[in-house]
Amino acid sequence: MEEASLVDTARNSLGPFCMRACKAQCCKRGYLPVSEKEAELFGTTEGLINLTPPCMHLDNNNACSVYEKRPKACREFPLYEKGKTLLVASWCPGYQEGLLDEFLKLLEGKGYQILVI
Ligand code: SF4
Ligand code: SF4
Repeated sequence: MEEASLVDTARNSLGPFCMRACKAQCCKRGYLPVSEKEAELFGTTEGLINLTPPCMHLDNNNACSVYEKRPKACREFPLYEKGKTLLVASWCPGYQEGLLDEFLKLLEGKGYQILVI
């Protein structure tokens, strides 16, 4: 398996937990960095979107209503790939539950440096 797709697979593996158990906490707290183009989705020109209260695109089932067009930062969370370094957002409940552990071990074996932030 390619490293890039392994990172994607790791993110995608969280899916069921995200909606049912975590209930999309990453769409309900903090600030979302967006590009100029992505900001249009939120009807603004600001580079940071306040996600508290929840993101305007989160629906009642804790799903993203603009999923196909969602910003890069949404697509990447909770794993940010910078070359062979992989940053892991430690507050993500999916990570805290150990759901990413096997993937992180595999990626480490493929030469990634894992940094939990
Ligand atoms: S915070 Fe983590 S577990 Fe929760 S919805 Fe976001 S990616 Fe999924
Ligand atoms: S755009 Fe979608 S994925 Fe991104 S914070 Fe909003 S609801 Fe969540």
